[in-house]
Amino acid sequence: MKIAIDVDDVVADLMPAWLKRLNKAHGTPADVSILRRYDFWEEPEFNGLDAETALRALTPDIYDEVHVLPGTFLALDILKELNHEVVFLSKCYTKEMALAKMDWIHRHGLSDHGNLISVGKWRGAGYEVKEECRFNILIDDSVENCLAWERHAAGQSPRRALLVARPHNEKAGYETKLAIYSSLEEAVGYFGLIGHHELRYNKVKEALQAPRLLPIDWGNAVSTEMARIESDPLGVPQHDKGAKLDAGKPRVGLMTRGFSRALMAVAGVSTYGAKKYTDDGWMEVPNGVERYTDALHRHLLQEVSEGPIDPESGMRHAAQVAWNALARLELMLREIDNDSL
Ligand SMILES: [Mg+2]
Repeated sequence: MKIAIDVDDVVADLMPAWLKRLNKAHGTPADVSILRRYDFWEEPEFNGLDAETALRALTPDIYDEVHVLPGTFLALDILKELNHEVVFLSKCYTKEMALAKMDWIHRHGLSDHGNLISVGKWRGAGYEVKEECRFNILIDDSVENCLAWERHAAGQSPRRALLVARPHNEKAGYETKLAIYSSLEEAVGYFGLIGHHELRYNKVKEALQAPRLLPIDWGNAVSTEMARIESDPLGVPQHDKGAKLDAGKPRVGLMTRGFSRALMAVAGVSTYGAKKYTDDGWMEVPNGVERYTDALHRHLLQEVSEGPIDPESGMRHAAQVAWNALARLELMLREIDNDSL
């Protein structure tokens, strides 16, 4: 499934850093226990501070002081292992703020798990509000965002919002019928309720917490990497001339240029196979991964015993090794995609 995770106060511990800034700027002594509401500056400790002044303290460099919330990496590892596609979804009012969040995500190693989609006034991805994004699940600490997400189906099914309860939304959260979780990690447990993932979730959680990790198939990293890309590598806004939202996308030219001869040889094997059997027939072969793995090894061994050329096809064993490697990889990735539908 496609899962959108809010950044501020779901993975980024923003509120305490914000409070610290206001205390410093206004000489106030408030501690984190004041964070029982989003508009915490309205508490008497701040002597009538107005919203505009409070919000002005949220400059992009605040992310230099923001920590990753505990449990975030475990939750993201579990989502990755379950082959869900993750994006970080955040409202950014300025391009500078979007870049600061993008940088924060990158700096903390979160970009290995998903890209940032920026919505709002500065619309890196062209979305005005979060609910326009076509993902299945939103995990957010804003009650309003969660309710809007569930109202706005946008043709996605299932479409659920999971509210992460934080001190600042506690009151509002309990008044709704939203699914409420105490952290991102606990919200991820929600996926334990979905079909065959139940057992896997517990197994994976156990494995990730144990000193020795179970082998994890990271094959899906390919599709995660190719998932929604939302920014121009030079920071050009989407609707400006010269924009191309391809930051982080695979540079296919490196492969086609670098392997021009090898790919042509593999194309030769595909053509030979289509003549010998049928076009695309290999995709339907039962136990394909196992059988093409065997074939790959056979050609490697035959290369040693027979020399570089396969007498049956007149083609290089090395080309057939490469073809079989691609076939098994393709079948593995298709299996993962079908699994996560
Ligand atoms: Mg938030």
